[in-house]
Amino acid sequence: MNETIISVKDLKKNYGDFEAVKGISFDVQKGEIFGLLGPNGAGKSTTLEIIETLRQKTSGEVWVNGISLDESPNEIKKIIGVQLQTSGYYPSLTLTELIHLFAGLYNETVDPMTLLDSVNLRDKANAKFKELSGGQKQRFSIATTLINKPKIIFLDEPTTGLDPQARRNLWELIKNIRNSGTTVIITTHYMDEAEVLCDRVAIIDSGRIIALNSPDKLIDELVDTGFERPKEVKKANLEDVFINLTGHVLRED
Ligand code: ADP
Ligand code: MG
Repeated sequence: MNETIISVKDLKKNYGDFEAVKGISFDVQKGEIFGLLGPNGAGKSTTLEIIETLRQKTSGEVWVNGISLDESPNEIKKIIGVQLQTSGYYPSLTLTELIHLFAGLYNETVDPMTLLDSVNLRDKANAKFKELSGGQKQRFSIATTLINKPKIIFLDEPTTGLDPQARRNLWELIKNIRNSGTTVIITTHYMDEAEVLCDRVAIIDSGRIIALNSPDKLIDELVDTGFERPKEVKKANLEDVFINLTGHVLRED
């Protein structure tokens, strides 16, 4: 049965005279991977940060796991995991030290090895953050969202700038997190990624939701309008060539 875990109603956000978010409404179901898609400046990060309690809304209502954002933002903070900007990490601390530091902030005790195992970084326990590859940094930053055993995690463009192998590796990680019972909200500019990863997506443009459905249904709706893609002349693309030549194995170690 579907159970709503996030409910956003008529959310608006103005920056001065500029209306960045123009009254959007959507629900996220417990246990789904929900994607927010849209061009740069559409209002995705603003929307996420409002739900994360990190930004003030102008108007509208937000409920997270039955908790009102207006009434109990601190209760919401306790049950969500938010990816910090990786620039905010202390580059010279080891991963184990960083986990202890973050766990302390959350008042949680975590076993660093168990957490690092969950993102396949056990071998890097004593490496410094600055010594990690781009994909490893992203995996570590996703691990830090799990420290407080959240019901929901928020990932804002977690795969931007990663190579094809590292991107696929993160898809597996994000699916595993969802399969272990955590709801995931993610933004991405990669439509192939949204198609394989997201149960449902909302497409935002200029602060408005212009479509919301499963990727499959959105594609069917487009096809039903008579849309036809220019005929594919080849049965593979350059990404297929790349993956075929270099394999799926991560090359970052
Ligand atoms: P997205 O994540 O979809 O790229 P954002 O939510 O970051 O979009 O931004 C939405 C719009 O709001 C953009 O036009 C952006 O320039 C503007 N904006 C974001 N943050 C601020 C801010 N702190 N002050 C003024 N304008 C902002
Ligand atoms: Mg953004």
